Amino acid sequence: MSATYLMPTYNRQPISFTRGSGSWLYTKDDTPYLDALTGIAVCGLGHCHPQVTEAIQQQAATLVHTSNLFGIDWQERAGEALCTAAQMDSVFFANSGAEANEAALKLARLYAHKQGFKRPKVIVMEQSFHGRTLLSLSATANPKAREGFYTLDDDFIRVAFGDIDAVKQAALDHDDICAIFVEPIQGEGGLNTATNGFTYLEELQAECDAHNWLFMLDEVQTGNGRTGKYFAYQHSKARPDVLTTAKGLGNGFPVGACMVRGRANGLFGAGSHGSTYGGTPLASRVVHSVYDVLTNSDIMDNAVSEGSFIRESMVDTFGQHGVSSRGAGMMIGIVLPEDMDCSQLVDRARDEQNMIINVTGSHVIRLLPPLNMSRDESTQVVERLTALLKPSF
Ligand SMILES: *Cc1c(COP(=O)(O)O)cnc(C)c1O
Repeated sequence: MSATYLMPTYNRQPISFTRGSGSWLYTKDDTPYLDALTGIAVCGLGHCHPQVTEAIQQQAATLVHTSNLFGIDWQERAGEALCTAAQMDSVFFANSGAEANEAALKLARLYAHKQGFKRPKVIVMEQSFHGRTLLSLSATANPKAREGFYTLDDDFIRVAFGDIDAVKQAALDHDDICAIFVEPIQGEGGLNTATNGFTYLEELQAECDAHNWLFMLDEVQTGNGRTGKYFAYQHSKARPDVLTTAKGLGNGFPVGACMVRGRANGLFGAGSHGSTYGGTPLASRVVHSVYDVLTNSDIMDNAVSEGSFIRESMVDTFGQHGVSSRGAGMMIGIVLPEDMDCSQLVDRARDEQNMIINVTGSHVIRLLPPLNMSRDESTQVVERLTALLKPSF
């Protein structure tokens, strides 16, 4: 591509799309690409879902923004819908995942402050990803993302993901912990699941309850049906005190949410947090339309069946060569042998198979297809992936 005025914060692929529909993206010359990434777990209902498009169009022609100085009917409705789906008490609407997480981490600090803590700490995980604002970045593990930014390392304790004993040890070593912040399945960090699956969340909650810490979940990526439940924690008996989400929340419209329950409810008051844009009539109506689609369809069941189909098909074919799978619903990791060179897979999938995928943690193919992918389309995902991998075995 030619000279650009954009900061080079991304290594962009040499392709761009001009149109999207369902599971497909199209280039200017109308070549279709099967999208098994959905803009990084964002367009869970597929590109330009008709009900979401209609919500955007109608609200764009009615009222876009007034600010939170005034009542916003659609924000009330979206708030009720989301809190019902998440089993939470109240919500703060932000504009991205990082902002939602910033709100959660600020809440944890306020929670500690109200108990007289001097400088509280939050337990976070190795391989975690929580965003790019300073506080959410400080909670993030990736050294490359953190380098040079003077992250607030003293405010966090990092333990191994899935290791409940490490949390118990941290509780013994520190008396200034106020919360745990964790992704139910780690997305950016390599599609990691705990060995005991979602039971890990129940163990974490038990620790939080025992020590009066806030149990905070980052469901920016795992929420909104991605794993086959509205929120991934609903696969377990755990109940978070704080729950954040974004990505699939607006199906591509930028919006995030931080929800609270019980002892975390009522911490923020007027003036203690805010956002000019957060929960505009337009964003809120989009959130409500996504909720409508998710709750009035079998899309989340579809995410379970098609996700299992893709995972099982790949393991049926390549399991004998050491390929395994992980994840839940349409959050799919295809784990390749560690010594396999995967550096060309994304480019080859695009150029040879017209399919958009991602590779994470060096040898894990990461698929985040639309939740409502048809069996014909998920069969195509399997066939194209199989053709891609065959030469390597
Ligand atoms: C993507 C992501 C974020 C950051 O969201 P942005 O909208 O990019 O700020 C935070 N946490 C998790 C788990 C994510 O996957």
